[in-house]
Amino acid sequence: KLSSNTYVNDLTIDYSRDEPSKKPRENATLLMLVRNRELEGALQSMRSLEDRFNRKYHYDWTFLNDVPFDQAFIEATTAMASGKTSYGLIPSSDWDRPSNINETEFESCLQLMEEKKVLYGGSRSYRNMCRFNSGFFFRQEILDKYDYYFRVEPDVEYFCDFPYDPFKVMRTQGKKYGFVMSLHEYEDTIPTLWDAVEEFITDYPELIDMETNAFSFITDDGVIGRVMPIIQSNSMYNLCHFWSNFEIGDLSFFRSDAYLKYFEVLDSKGGFYYERWGDAPVHTIAAALLLRKEEIIHFDELGYHHLPFMTCPTSRNLRLQQRCICDPDIEENIDITSYSCLTRWWKSGDGKHFMKHI
Ligand code: GDP
Ligand code: MN
Repeated sequence: KLSSNTYVNDLTIDYSRDEPSKKPRENATLLMLVRNRELEGALQSMRSLEDRFNRKYHYDWTFLNDVPFDQAFIEATTAMASGKTSYGLIPSSDWDRPSNINETEFESCLQLMEEKKVLYGGSRSYRNMCRFNSGFFFRQEILDKYDYYFRVEPDVEYFCDFPYDPFKVMRTQGKKYGFVMSLHEYEDTIPTLWDAVEEFITDYPELIDMETNAFSFITDDGVIGRVMPIIQSNSMYNLCHFWSNFEIGDLSFFRSDAYLKYFEVLDSKGGFYYERWGDAPVHTIAAALLLRKEEIIHFDELGYHHLPFMTCPTSRNLRLQQRCICDPDIEENIDITSYSCLTRWWKSGDGKHFMKHI
């Protein structure tokens, strides 16, 4: 049934673990977008997540790439996984720069951002990646059969034993988006992203419920009455975003008409290329506008590291129980720095507070 874009590994050596897992599983997959040359980093991340979580569950691993995975990558990752592995090739139409992007304008934007030393400002492939992760990962055929995904990146580490199956928490508690870290985005990467968001809000007010969403988390001056008539570049967006290299999501949220319309409006602006919009603010703003606040979950108990930041449970008791290997008091701990948006997350109410002022 799968098209030629998608192939399940056909190694002669069968490393796949077919024995039924001891624990009941959700309909979910671990998901990694990765390049062949990142094999070692991918294996490090896999080993860590297998040890801390998946060895008890054997969830499937799904790997995506814009070029075919090589045999060495397939063999080594399949050997490392305790669950089944599949490998998907992303169609060019979901990855490459679309034809509506003006070549000359794009080149000059790249150069300008390179000169301004914006992080990945001069990179073409990084832009493809961010647009793919914003609007296309959930459309890959290889994910059709799943309800939930857990995004994993190369070279990350999970510091503690998982005290629960996060997929199960998502389903039983009706959560649609889960994160561990939240920080401020570089403004230079998204000068006009909020303008596009305002256009979406204006065009589709019926998709947004300000009474229940997490609008107050992403805005400092959360009075919606001001959004509509006055267009102010990035004036309302406080740059807070969930760090999407760790992300557990309900695929039905991304597949929803609301999210697709949102992405369509953003994509039509060309900001993934003329600027360098990241999938983290794109996902975050969508979750904050379109979901109920209680549909977003902060997984507080899962220690995690992706350069240059980490997060580590503050409770010593919990660190012992979960065999954590991390120190919450070092400066890489994002939660205690001014970059973090976590206190804002805790403080942001249920939205009702802001409605009073309209
Ligand atoms: P950073 O975390 O923002 O510094 O960016 P990364 O280099 O880690 O990229 C984010 C994710 O996208 C990682 O999982 C990468 O492996 C993946 N990625 C980035 N660029 C490409 C690419 O050109 N092709 C593929 N297949 N994966 C990519
Ligand atoms: Mn990364």
